[in-house]
Amino acid sequence: MKTVNQTATKVLAEMVTDLPKRRVGILGGTFNPPHIGHLIMADQVGTQLGLDEVRFMPDAQPPHVDEKKTIAATDRANMVQRAIADNPLFKLEPTELKRGGKSYTYDTMKAMKAAHPEVEYYFIIGGDMVDYLHTWYHIDDLVKLVTFVGIKRAGYPTTSPYPVMWVDAPLVDVSSTKIRQKVSHNQSIRYLVPDAVADYIKEHHLYEQTN
Ligand code: ATP
Repeated sequence: MKTVNQTATKVLAEMVTDLPKRRVGILGGTFNPPHIGHLIMADQVGTQLGLDEVRFMPDAQPPHVDEKKTIAATDRANMVQRAIADNPLFKLEPTELKRGGKSYTYDTMKAMKAAHPEVEYYFIIGGDMVDYLHTWYHIDDLVKLVTFVGIKRAGYPTTSPYPVMWVDAPLVDVSSTKIRQKVSHNQSIRYLVPDAVADYIKEHHLYEQTN
C-alpha cells in the first residue's frame, strides 16, 4: 500500500516534468558602459516573447587598445548590475567574465546548456549581425543550442539561412563608444544611461581624458 508520502512524491515529480521550460534571453556585449539601447532591447525582447528572464552577459575581452584609460571587467559588471537593478526581469550572467579570455558564444552556450539542459536560451542579436551568422564559430551546432532573436533594423534583410525570431523594437542611436566620447569631452550623458550608471562613471572617473 502506498504511503501518503510516496503518493505526494509521485504527484510532485509529475508536476515538475510538466513544468514549462524556463525561457531565458541572453544579451551578450562588452557593456562599456551599458546604456539605454541595451535596456530597451532587452525589455522589448523579454516582454514581447514573454521570457522568464533576460540575462546581460558581459564578455571578458580586454579593454580596447586604443583607449587611454583601461576599464576593469569588474567595473563593467558593476555598471551592468546598477543598470538592471530596478527590473526583476533582468539578471547578470557572469559566465564569460568568470572564465576570462576570449569566449566563443558556442563554447559559452554549450557549457550553460550542459549545466542547465532544462533551460531554453534565446540569444539576442542586432538585425545587422544576422547576416554574419555564417561566420560564427560552430554556428551549425550553436543554432541547435539556442534560438536566435534578431532585432529588426531598417536597411537590413529579415531573412537568414538560420532560424531567427524577429522582434520589432525602437532603435535608439546610442552606443557605448558615443557615451565614452561624451564623457571624455565633458558632455552630458544624462538619459543616455541610467542615473546609477552615470553616477558610477563619475565616482570612478571612468572614460575621463587622461591628459
Ligand atoms: P561599442 O560602441 O563599444 O562597440 P555597443 O554600444 O555596440 O558598444 P555592446 O556592449 O558591444 O555595445 O553591445 C551589446 C549588444 O547590444 C550588441 O548586440 C549590440 O548590437 C547591441 N546594441 C548596442 N547598442 C544598441 C542600440 N542602441 N540599440 C540596440 N542594440 C544595441
